[in-house]
Amino acid sequence: MSTTTLTTDVVVVGAGPVGLLLAGELRLAGARVIVLEKLTEPSTESRATTLHARTMELLDQRGLLARVGDVPQGPGGHFGGLPLDFGGLDSPYPGQWKVPQTHTRAVLLDWATELGAEVRTGHTVLAVEQDREHVEVLAEGTDGSPVTVRARYAVGCDGEDSTVRRVAGIAFEGTDATRELLRADVAGIDIPDRRFERFPGGLAIAGRRPDGVTRVMVHRFGAPAAPRTGDPAFAEVAEAWREVTGEEISHGTPLWVNAFGNAARQAARYRDGRILLAGDAAHRQMPVGGQALNLGLADAANLGWKLGAEVCGRAPEGLLDTYHEERHAVGRRVLGNIVAQSSILLGGQETDALRAVFGELLRDERIVQHLTGMISGLDVRHPVGAPGSHPLLGLRLPPARLRAGLGRDTTTTELLHPARAVLLDLAPDAPGHAEVRAAAGRLAGRLRVVIAEPLDDVLTGLTAALVRPDGYIVCAAGPDESAAGSVRDAVAALRRWVGGVDTSVTAVTAVTKDPADPAVTRRKTTMGRLTNKTALVTGASRGIGRAIAERLAADGALVAVHYGRNKGAAEETVDAIRAAGGRAFPVRALLGGHGDVEVLFDGLEEGLKEHSGGTELDIVVNNAGIMGNTSPEETTPELFDRLVAVNAKAPFFIVQRAVRNMRDGGRVINISSGLTRFANPEEIAYAMTKGAVETLALHYARHLAGRGITVNNVAPGVTDNGSEIFSNPQAVQFMSQLSAFGRVGTPADVADVVGFLASDESRWITGAFIDATGGTLLG
Ligand code: NAP
Repeated sequence: MSTTTLTTDVVVVGAGPVGLLLAGELRLAGARVIVLEKLTEPSTESRATTLHARTMELLDQRGLLARVGDVPQGPGGHFGGLPLDFGGLDSPYPGQWKVPQTHTRAVLLDWATELGAEVRTGHTVLAVEQDREHVEVLAEGTDGSPVTVRARYAVGCDGEDSTVRRVAGIAFEGTDATRELLRADVAGIDIPDRRFERFPGGLAIAGRRPDGVTRVMVHRFGAPAAPRTGDPAFAEVAEAWREVTGEEISHGTPLWVNAFGNAARQAARYRDGRILLAGDAAHRQMPVGGQALNLGLADAANLGWKLGAEVCGRAPEGLLDTYHEERHAVGRRVLGNIVAQSSILLGGQETDALRAVFGELLRDERIVQHLTGMISGLDVRHPVGAPGSHPLLGLRLPPARLRAGLGRDTTTTELLHPARAVLLDLAPDAPGHAEVRAAAGRLAGRLRVVIAEPLDDVLTGLTAALVRPDGYIVCAAGPDESAAGSVRDAVAALRRWVGGVDTSVTAVTAVTKDPADPAVTRRKTTMGRLTNKTALVTGASRGIGRAIAERLAADGALVAVHYGRNKGAAEETVDAIRAAGGRAFPVRALLGGHGDVEVLFDGLEEGLKEHSGGTELDIVVNNAGIMGNTSPEETTPELFDRLVAVNAKAPFFIVQRAVRNMRDGGRVINISSGLTRFANPEEIAYAMTKGAVETLALHYARHLAGRGITVNNVAPGVTDNGSEIFSNPQAVQFMSQLSAFGRVGTPADVADVVGFLASDESRWITGAFIDATGGTLLG
């Protein structure tokens, strides 16, 4: 039988809720995912039935609560069988939410597959092998045929008897079960409901569901856990029930029977090279208080964005290792509380005194808060390594309402829907905040900068926060923070958690002591490759133009930041460049109208004179542009003229005028579009203007070659310019599929190409069309 070989970025083993949440998170991060599931049909057993407050928040962070629907919720929970009220939790979702595991799984399956995860059922994993670059998961398909999936990473989400863990040889440390509860769902019996009722001989729990089926659970005090290879017979459960309660249930019809013990084991490592574990594969615990599934889902939420960043090549060093560091510690703590609960729950009379003392303690509100915070997962605080002592550091960003830019109301959870990091600035005028926004702004595509006003008290005392895609705060500033301290901490946190903060190309002054004479200080400045050059970037207030302006400035050029209407945004670009140590000034001119180029060059020359003493220009980037967004039928002559005027006519006359100021060896770079190579009928007129710009480059290249001035085109594909559509995960997912790399472009992706064309290194390229579409529609 021939082997089917598949390739992907990540192979997830196990399509339970944990594997599926992970798959969706990986897709949102831009990674390709194949999920292998042994079963051909989804399990109908609902092992877990409780979602805790933090899990509800995680689902809210991805906009999934509407799909979960209206589900029953109640404050009543327990700690080892002692009543514990979850109603006071500080969350929009206090209490415990009753959601059958089958429903949670179905919601996550739809979501992950809509996002593009490939779920293959009927695939039994036999082996996992890894080398320095790849993993190979060897499986058997439904018809017994061999399937090999070659990926960068494999994640075992395949439950407590995990094959992945076993074949990877990862130790599963801990203890086997010493006590067990027998459990059965039984139809046709009529017994009173019992909530953790203790009899002299044992513990009995019974609950009748609306469909008339009764779930019974029973434990005989002192009885050791039986060595089991399968589920117990119903007769064994009925006998234990009779022994403990005196009631007869053997005439009932068992629908599902099983036994679960108080085994407590945890994988020694959640990561072994390219193999990772999540959910029950990483930890086995007695299912009390509904913590196992919630713990597993939180593993997936923690791992997804980190592994996605890793396989997409944008993870800062060490990011993936924080998965084990953070989640192993959380798992250890949860296992601890479950062991404590099982001792109280399953202990006989010897634990009565302990239970009595615990019962008294549970009357204290602070203890209730402590325990419910721990069990719900709300109190998880990650050691995020940032200095500072803000009380929210390392905790999840509390759900709260915000008024964001343009007066739009939103919530902190909604900000996280696209699963990107967020720099939330709640005090934009505070000292140092503009610098931090500038540093973050360079990372467009990796993170969103949001200026907002808090509408809820839970954010009191927080002036800014850097929030990871999973909602945890890795840098927090309060009103008393010093500007210098908060800028330093924020830049360090951006480097550590978001990556891409690159200062290597800016002019750096190193101050060193002379080894021969420590009294002598030496300064060495490393010049950027465009130092002493001047550049005009049109449309640099936002999007790609802004990233180009920042890039050229980082390389040392003095940059004229041109804009049309958006003065504030242009000033933000200039501020960002200056905060990063670069030089820039704004120039306004509304392109596409009469006299536009004169206005532009008047402002440009004035600014150049002021900042450089002359009016010489080295680099012109024709970036400003508008799109049509209109079908061919609805395109009016007016719209057509406007597109031509801004996108094609203005660049022609800008080049015509610029050559008077340009030094020999200069650079003209026009931002065209991938739409001159692939069709989109909504943008015919727009694409025609870009075709015109490309033709302009060809002929001007010939015309200006004698002066060593090169003229080239850079054609971006779909590029996240921060507009609304890039906050819609479904739209981003669709657009990502167009690129061979499976993600949308970032402004920096395009700016780096422009940076190269602006440099001396591109001197042998002119009249060229450079595709910067990330391999769009390569087939
Ligand atoms: P963007 O975010 O919409 O920004 C457009 C910029 O152009 C703004 O700075 C705007 O200035 C300026 N501008 C627009 N019309 C102007 C006018 N009449 N006069 C003066 N300035 C004007 O655009 P983007 O997405 O970064 O796109 C930049 C370039 O890349 C465009 O040429 C676009 O066609 C091309 N491109 C983009 C994509 C993409 O997916 N984003 C794909 C292919 C090609 P104000 O804000 O100050 O008005």
